Amino acid sequence: MDCTRCDEEAVMHAAYSGSHLCADHFRESVEKRVRRRVRRDDLVSHDATPEDPETWVIGLSGGKDSVVLTQILHETFAEDPRIELVGLTIHEGIEGYRDESVDACVELSEELGIRHELVSYAEEFGVRMDEVVEDDPENMAACAYCGVFRRDLLEKYAEELGADLLLTGHNLDDEAQTALMNFLEGDVEQIAKHFDASLGPLSERGEQEEFVPRAKPLRDVPEKEVALYAHINDLPAHITECPHASEAYRGEIQQLLYDLEENHPGTRHSILAGYEDLASIAADEYSGDDGADLQECVECGSTTTREVCRKCSLLESLA
Ligand code: SF4
Ligand SMILES: [Zn+2]
Ligand SMILES: [Zn+2]
Repeated sequence: MDCTRCDEEAVMHAAYSGSHLCADHFRESVEKRVRRRVRRDDLVSHDATPEDPETWVIGLSGGKDSVVLTQILHETFAEDPRIELVGLTIHEGIEGYRDESVDACVELSEELGIRHELVSYAEEFGVRMDEVVEDDPENMAACAYCGVFRRDLLEKYAEELGADLLLTGHNLDDEAQTALMNFLEGDVEQIAKHFDASLGPLSERGEQEEFVPRAKPLRDVPEKEVALYAHINDLPAHITECPHASEAYRGEIQQLLYDLEENHPGTRHSILAGYEDLASIAADEYSGDDGADLQECVECGSTTTREVCRKCSLLESLA
C-alpha cells in the first residue's frame, strides 16, 4: 500500500483517520500533533525570553513514551533560547527493570546534550520498591505505594530544579483510559482536579500555586504510534514491563478500549476530547473550593490536605 501523501510505501495505517503513511510522513505527522498540542495548551509562556528562559522538566523514565516526548521537544526547541529542557529520572529500585531504562535515559540525554538528573527511592526514602513489595504493610498493590513516592519526588525535584513546567509522556491510550476510569468512578471533583492539574490550556486552569503545572503534549498520539516512532527513529527506549505492574482495573479498561477502537475507530480520540470539555466545565464549577484545606506536612513540609502527608505515613508503616 502506498503512502496517502506520496509514492513511498506506507509503514502504518491509522484506521481512525483512514490514512496510510510512509516513514517520513508518519514521522512528520507525529511531530506535528505534539507541536500543535504545545500551542493549544499554551505551554510556552509569553514571559519567556532568551535572557530569562523557562525550565521544562521532563519525567524521563526511559520507556518509549518519555523518550519520544524528549526527542520531539528537543527538536522543537533546540534552536529556541526561551526553553531549557531537563530530564528527570526516578529509580524505584526494581531489579532487572529500571537499570536498563536508566541507561536509555543517560544515552538519550548525552545524545541530545540536555541536562539529566537521576534520583532514587533508596537515596531519598531509604527503601527500594522490591522491599516495599516484600513488606507490603498496608496490604496494597505495588503501584499504590510507588505512585505516591514517584509523585512526591517529581514534585520535589521539579521545584528544586526551578521548573516552570513538569512534562510527562502520557499517550492517547493512557489518557483515554484515565478519562474512562474517572468517569466510571463517578467522581466529578476528581475530574475537575485532573483538568487543573494537567489538561487544558495553562491560561485556563484554576489556581494551583503550590504545584509546578504539568503538561502531557503526547496525549494526541496513540500508544502504537509512539512505539513505531521510537522504532523508526532508532531511539534508545527500554520496553520491558515492570514486574510489579498491578493495576488490574486499568488493564480491564485497556482491553475494553482496544475492543471499542477495533470496531469503532476514533473512540479514544472522542472519549478524550469530550472528557476534556466536560472536565473544563467541572473545573469551573469547583473553582474556589480548591486549596482551602491545603497545609504543610508536619514531617516533610510538602503540601498536603492532612497533617502528615501520604508519603510520610507510608514510610512510617514501612519503617
Ligand atoms: S508499574 Fe507500578 S510498581 Fe512498577 S514502576 Fe510503575 S507504578 Fe511502580
Ligand atoms: Zn509519504
Ligand atoms: Zn510528608
